[in-house]
Amino acid sequence: MPVLVMKFGGTSVATLDRIRRAAKRVSVEVAKGYDVIVIVSAMSGKTNELVGWVTEISPMYDAREYDAVVSSGENITAGLMALTLQEMEIPARSWQGWQVPVLTNSAHSSARIEEIPSVNIAAKFAEGMRVAVVSGFQGVSPEKRITTLGRGGSDTTAVAFAAALKAERCDIYTDVDGVYTTDPRVSPKARKLEKIAYEEMLELASLGAKVLQTRSVELAMRFNVPLRVLSSFEEPNDQAGTLVCAEEDIMESNVVAGVAFSRDEAKMTLVSVADRPGIAATIFTGLSEAGVNVDMIVQNIAEEGRTDMTWSCPTDQVTRAEKAMSDAKDSGVINYHELIADKDVAKVSVVGIGMRSHTGVAAKMFRVLSAEGINIRVITTSEIKISVLIDRKYVELAVQALHDSFDLDKTS
Ligand code: ADP
Ligand code: ASP
Ligand code: MG
Repeated sequence: MPVLVMKFGGTSVATLDRIRRAAKRVSVEVAKGYDVIVIVSAMSGKTNELVGWVTEISPMYDAREYDAVVSSGENITAGLMALTLQEMEIPARSWQGWQVPVLTNSAHSSARIEEIPSVNIAAKFAEGMRVAVVSGFQGVSPEKRITTLGRGGSDTTAVAFAAALKAERCDIYTDVDGVYTTDPRVSPKARKLEKIAYEEMLELASLGAKVLQTRSVELAMRFNVPLRVLSSFEEPNDQAGTLVCAEEDIMESNVVAGVAFSRDEAKMTLVSVADRPGIAATIFTGLSEAGVNVDMIVQNIAEEGRTDMTWSCPTDQVTRAEKAMSDAKDSGVINYHELIADKDVAKVSVVGIGMRSHTGVAAKMFRVLSAEGINIRVITTSEIKISVLIDRKYVELAVQALHDSFDLDKTS
């Protein structure tokens, strides 16, 4: 029988009533003849609560125990969903990551799925099970410890299952009815997209649009999984939601497809380092070894053999970066005057594959921000995106102004 993957996010399983509503959606697909893999998140707020408990007990926690605790929210919803389906006379069974097994590497708290052998689940489908309810967000390491896939990781579980079981489609049920031109919570004029190209979705996700975890889009693109994002609160039809698909399957699109933002950014500047070959290598090797994910980088023009080096990284990695740099200074590897950390910045980005063939997008973006009196601190570009770092208090203003100026509320 054809296989369908249906993923329900935290708000879609937040109460027993919502679990029943989701189960009803599943029953419709079962009735159509699909064997269904349901991927569930923890009830909304649960994962945050578990993370809070871990960090309260142990601020510098052992990541293996973090995963043991934080993965547990999904197990509750998986069991409850299986029971709900059974009450509806649908043969269903819950599966934790290790039971499938979802094999990952050992990078606790941000593990990557390496393989999902489908034999166990396939055998149960052959015996008459119609729904496998799998705990999202978790797997098992080669050392047989429980791992988690990073926040939002259930999306990735869903796509990985769709690829492994050659599902017809992967449906992501969430609290919005699709992918919008920007976060609908920030811009009331945000427009729902009927389709979006994998590459654009990948950029939007990695630049802050948390509607899909970045890695899930990467996998969908690699394995050509048709991915649909839709609301669990509305009556679905075949056209519902947004289809994330190959560029060739989209007839027309705007030059800019969407605006993304991330409030969780910090800007750090190492003041007065020696301007000599190897200095960037030394600084960024130190940061990388300390586990700091550096995003943007700017090196100022040197004066009298000294220069400033600026980078951005997630706010919660500032302390780690400061320690790495002061250790490097103490051991004499680098010499600098001071390290300035600005935690009140945010990144705003415009994304669109149309930028490959259209010029002037960057110039227009800078004009729009300047007209709003917003100062740009750092700029980076790639083939299909332009990102700027600005003061955090201007995020909403910047997003709305860019959304208006690029006419994202209208189709081209
Ligand atoms: P779930 O719990 O179902 O995984 P998430 O909270 O992770 O849901 O993701 C859905 C949220 O993503 C929406 O409520 C919305 O605020 C946010 N979001 C950010 N950018 C976008 C976008 N471009 N389109 C749709 N939703 C977006
Ligand atoms: N429950 C996890 C989280 O909140 C995983 C997910 O929902 O995707 O990040
Ligand atoms: Mg999510």
